[in-house]
Amino acid sequence: MEIKITKTTKPKIKPDQSNLGFGNFFTDHMFIMDYSKEKGWYDPRIVPYGPLQMEPSSMVFHYAQETFEGLKAYKRDDGKIQLFRVKDNLKRLNISNERVCIPQLDEGDMLAAIKTLVKVDEDWIPSAKGTSLYIRPFVIATDPFLGVRPASTYKFMIILSPVGAYYKEGLNPVRIYVEDYYVRAVPGGTGYAKTGANYAASLKAQVEANKKGYSQVLWLDGIERKYIEEVGTSNAFFKIDGIIYTAPLEGSILSGITRDSSIKLMRDWGYEVVEKRMTIDELCQAYAENRLEEAFATGTAAVISPIGVLGWKEKDMIINEQKIGEVSQKLYDAITAIQNGTSEDKFGWITVL
Ligand SMILES: *Cc1c(COP(=O)(O)O)cnc(C)c1O
Repeated sequence: MEIKITKTTKPKIKPDQSNLGFGNFFTDHMFIMDYSKEKGWYDPRIVPYGPLQMEPSSMVFHYAQETFEGLKAYKRDDGKIQLFRVKDNLKRLNISNERVCIPQLDEGDMLAAIKTLVKVDEDWIPSAKGTSLYIRPFVIATDPFLGVRPASTYKFMIILSPVGAYYKEGLNPVRIYVEDYYVRAVPGGTGYAKTGANYAASLKAQVEANKKGYSQVLWLDGIERKYIEEVGTSNAFFKIDGIIYTAPLEGSILSGITRDSSIKLMRDWGYEVVEKRMTIDELCQAYAENRLEEAFATGTAAVISPIGVLGWKEKDMIINEQKIGEVSQKLYDAITAIQNGTSEDKFGWITVL
């Protein structure tokens, strides 16, 4: 694949590295490639970052045929740039594409696109502790057409955003509301796909949880509202009697790459990790009997978020005195050290540019 590169003539002033936040700033360039039935994916190009011209009738605006990914690039102390588990993200993008009838993309081409774009905007990769360059690949349906059917034209794009540590104060135990009315996903639905519509459907529960003083919701299964699934846009883990539990990948939860990395690391350290359906009642019982030792969520954005409070039916369960748990801290330190290149990559998770 030959990528045509058009560089900006007006580079932007880079933001202050100590105040990046998450998803606020975008680099100077973006990658675009188009799809049509006749040509397949064509015209891969890097152009200055800026607004798109699109027909208001573009199908993505009306029927949300869209998928996305999220991963990060890191600048090592020796100046080299590396990506964390990029191939797993690209595989997952194609799994999401398949679910919402978007044509498959070549994973080698997507990797080449990410590498080339990150190189072009290399100066944007922050180096301060806890910072990285967030990479957002996505696909949108572009047919100018009203009516529900899969589109026949698409754009695959990649944008980049320098980001800071997700939580300013470092690892910060969060307050989570156990959602007992709204649901995120059902068997046979799109829960396992990273597709925009899932997130639109989750907003109301999040807003209501925020009003009650919680930062995110813990989703229960969509049929019985009984089995624990995941937390907001991250996967959930619970340590009970020394054993770590997380929901199995059965179609309604997202197969998180941080989830998988955490499971592999914990098993490597000798922890027993069990992927099984657990009810909220079982969790409450463990809490009441003082057997719930730790809870945390995993995701690319924050890596590890310790759960300090779980609100369920007007009652707050305070977990581990709202302090960072031992496993949470150990996972955060181990994963970020691999990502930053300060520890050995024994699982083969790193791609150096
Ligand atoms: C992205 C996402 C996750 C976390 O996946 P990572 O690959 O670890 O970033 C978990 N749940 C949902 C719903 C997500 O969208």
